[in-house]
Amino acid sequence: MKSLSATDRPSAPNRSGVPAEARPDTEKKPVQSAQPAPLNPERRKTPRSWETPPAPVVAPPFDAYESIVGAAELDELRFLARELKGKTVKMVNSTAVGGGVAEMLNRLVPLLGELEVPTHWDVITGGNDFFEITKAFHNALHGTPYELTQAAREIFLSYNEQNRQRMQFNEDLIVIHDPQPAALIGARKDSHARWVWRCHIDLSNPNPQVWGFLRPYIEQFDAAIFSSQSFARQLPIPQYLFYPCIDPLSEKNKDLDESFVQKVCDEFGVDRSRPIVTQVSRFDRLKDPAGVVQAYKQAKKYVDCQLVLAGGGASDDPEGAIVLKEVKEVAGNDPDIIILDLPPWCALEINALQRASTIVVQKSLKEGFGLTVTEALWKGKPTIAGAVGGIPNQVIHKLTGMLVHSVEGCAYQIRYLLTHPEFAAQMGKNGHEHVKENFLMTTNVRRWLLLLRILLVEGKV
Ligand code: UDP
Repeated sequence: MKSLSATDRPSAPNRSGVPAEARPDTEKKPVQSAQPAPLNPERRKTPRSWETPPAPVVAPPFDAYESIVGAAELDELRFLARELKGKTVKMVNSTAVGGGVAEMLNRLVPLLGELEVPTHWDVITGGNDFFEITKAFHNALHGTPYELTQAAREIFLSYNEQNRQRMQFNEDLIVIHDPQPAALIGARKDSHARWVWRCHIDLSNPNPQVWGFLRPYIEQFDAAIFSSQSFARQLPIPQYLFYPCIDPLSEKNKDLDESFVQKVCDEFGVDRSRPIVTQVSRFDRLKDPAGVVQAYKQAKKYVDCQLVLAGGGASDDPEGAIVLKEVKEVAGNDPDIIILDLPPWCALEINALQRASTIVVQKSLKEGFGLTVTEALWKGKPTIAGAVGGIPNQVIHKLTGMLVHSVEGCAYQIRYLLTHPEFAAQMGKNGHEHVKENFLMTTNVRRWLLLLRILLVEGKV
C-alpha cells in the first residue's frame, strides 16, 4: 500500500500567523443489487499522513480571493479597513485545532493582519478537569441536563484566573470566543479595550444553572455576537448577528486534483465506483454519529452505499474516545462502514473525502452553526442535515439540501437522493451559490471590519 506523505500533497494554502422530510416508503422491496466484494481491510492501514503533521505552507494572499468573489468585494474590504489602520485585536478561544472556531480563526486572523488590523490569537490553557467542566457547560448550554456544583464553578474560575494572570490585554478590541474563557472579562478593568463576547453555540434553550452562572460575566462585555438570530438571549448589551464562514482557499475547501481525491479514497479503502455517504464530525454524541450509522443501515436495505464517518478529537473535548468506541460498536463489522479517527492536520484528506462523497450528512441533534454543512454545500454536495442550530440558515429544505428530524427521515433522504441524482445535483448547485453569497470568509471579514468601525472609530456599541 502506498502512503500519503507531505510531499504527495498538492500545493496548499497555509495556516500561517496563528497558533418535510417524508416517511420512509417501507412497502418497497430492498434492492437486489449485486454487492461488490468488500475491500481488503489490509488497505485501511494508517497512512503516514496521520502520524506526521504536514509542513506548513504559505497562506494565499488577500488578493487571491478575487478569483472567487470578484475585485469589487475586495475593494470594499480595503476601503472599510482604511480607517482602522493601526487598531489592534486579540481573539481568545480554547483550542487551536479541531472544531469550527479554530477553523475560522485560522484564516480570519491573518487576513485582518493583511488589511493592517494586527490581530493576535491566544488560546487559553487548562487541565482535563477544566475541559471536562467546560464541555459539560457546552452541552448544558445546548440544553442537556446538568447539575452545576460549587466545585465546578471554582475550577472554571480558577483556570480563567490563571489565564488572566498569564495574558496581556493591550489591544483595542478583545474578542472572547464561547464560554470557556468568558471570565477573562475580569481583566477588563485593567485594559482600555472594548470587549466583545463571540458566542458560537445555540443559547436558545440553555440549562438555567449554567447560564445563570455565566450571564453576569457576559453582561460585562460591550457587545455579544451570535451565529443565528435564534441563538440570542435577552441581554442588556447590544447583540450582533455574524454568520460563521469557511475559507474557500483553505486546504479544507480549495479545489483538488482528481488524482489526489482518488489517492485518499484508495488509502482509506473507500470505493468510488459505489455511492459514498459521509459525515465529517468530531466524535460527539450531539453530532449523532450512531444515528448516522442507523440511518445508513436502514437505507442500505434499499440502496447500495458505503458510509464514511470521518472525525477526530479537539483538545477541548475529552469525550471523543468514548463516543468513537460507542460508534464502532453500533457499526459492528460491516465492511462498508469506514470509520476514520483523523488527527487535526488532515484538512486535505477531509476535503478529498467530502469531494468524493455522493451525499454529505450532518445529522446533528444540537449544533452551533455546523461548518461541515457549509463545507459540503460549497463543494456542491447534496446535503442532508439535522434541522438544528444554525443548519436551517444554510440548508433550505429541498432547495439547498434536505433537513431531517430523525434517523428514519435521514435514511429516507439518503435513499431518495441516491435514487434521484438529477434533483440531488441541482440541490448541490444551489447550495454552492448560497454559501458563496452568505458564508465565505470575505463576508465575515466585512462584518468584523464594520464592527471594529462601530466600536473603535464611531465609539458606539
Ligand atoms: N473537522 C476537522 N477534523 C475532524 C472533524 C471536524 O478538521 O476530525 C473540522 C470540520 O471540517 C469543520 C470543523 O472541524 O471545519 C467542525 O466545525 P462544525 O461547526 O461543523 O462543528 P464543531 O466541531 O465546531 O462543533
